[in-house]
Amino acid sequence: MDVIPQFELHTHVEGALTPARLEALSGRHGRTVELGARQLRADRLFDFTDFHGFLRCYRDATAFLSTPLDYADVAHDLVAMLVADGVVHCEASVSYGVLLWRGINPEPIQAALWEVAQEARERHDMTLRFIPDAVRQFGVEPARRVLEAALRAGWQRGVVGFGIGGDEMSRPAAEFARVCEEAREAGLGVTIHAGEVGGAEQVRDAVSSCGATRIGHGIGAVLGPVGPDGARVEPAPAEVEATLALLRSRRVFIELCPGANRRLNLVPAGRTWPWGRFLEAGVPCALNTDDRGFFGLDLRGEYARAAAEGGFSPQTAQQCREAARRAAFAAPL
Ligand SMILES: [Zn+2]
Repeated sequence: MDVIPQFELHTHVEGALTPARLEALSGRHGRTVELGARQLRADRLFDFTDFHGFLRCYRDATAFLSTPLDYADVAHDLVAMLVADGVVHCEASVSYGVLLWRGINPEPIQAALWEVAQEARERHDMTLRFIPDAVRQFGVEPARRVLEAALRAGWQRGVVGFGIGGDEMSRPAAEFARVCEEAREAGLGVTIHAGEVGGAEQVRDAVSSCGATRIGHGIGAVLGPVGPDGARVEPAPAEVEATLALLRSRRVFIELCPGANRRLNLVPAGRTWPWGRFLEAGVPCALNTDDRGFFGLDLRGEYARAAAEGGFSPQTAQQCREAARRAAFAAPL
């Protein structure tokens, strides 16, 4: 049995929703599950085929999470998945952006999440920390309110970072430069979803404008952005090289999420998954699940698939885990 300690730096608390938990929440709140795609499966929440369909389903499903108890339940599910997967340290995003947009105060929810984290520490010797996440398309002022709530919750409630997720094509990361600077000054790490559907430009913007030291996904730096027809727009080799050089020089860690990208068809058919480009360029990176419950993924499966697809030796996997350990926002592990 694989007992290699794993580190997960890119997973969403809301993304830990499983079909069983969603059914339970629907019973608790007396509402039926009416999701956009109606593709509830037994093994994972949905079977998506495109990014915007995923965002719609994500919004519909997370609408069932509203109380501290709801969040504690889904966080318990997440802990169970992490423990079964051999994860010893996890930094999970929590969409404060969506909570505030729905008029829900994140503070009692963070307190409930912190209780779950403390229990995980005591029972499983696993550290769970949190990254409040803003929604990019909502704009700068809502992001600032996310940061303010994150700072009120603070390290004493397990908050170690500030993130920006959502639709990366909606507005440039540069608009959030000041908010990210304030997050860094307050001692929070900054991670930004970029290069998931966007390209090298979005990745460079997140790093250069916002000082992000971690990038969620990042593959667009190599593959180019997804065009209007759903195909990747191949970037010029010089642009790819320049972006990888920037990432390497700043030691930016890429939170790769191959299984999640595959579920959303974000890597062109017939194209090998581009982790090799990051590894060859000396850019620190490791594999992550993104949304365990939604996609039915775990890290062991991700590393096993990477090994089977080639170019991912046991030494490479170990190098990635070590890079993830070093890239953690939490105190030295
Ligand atoms: Zn994500």
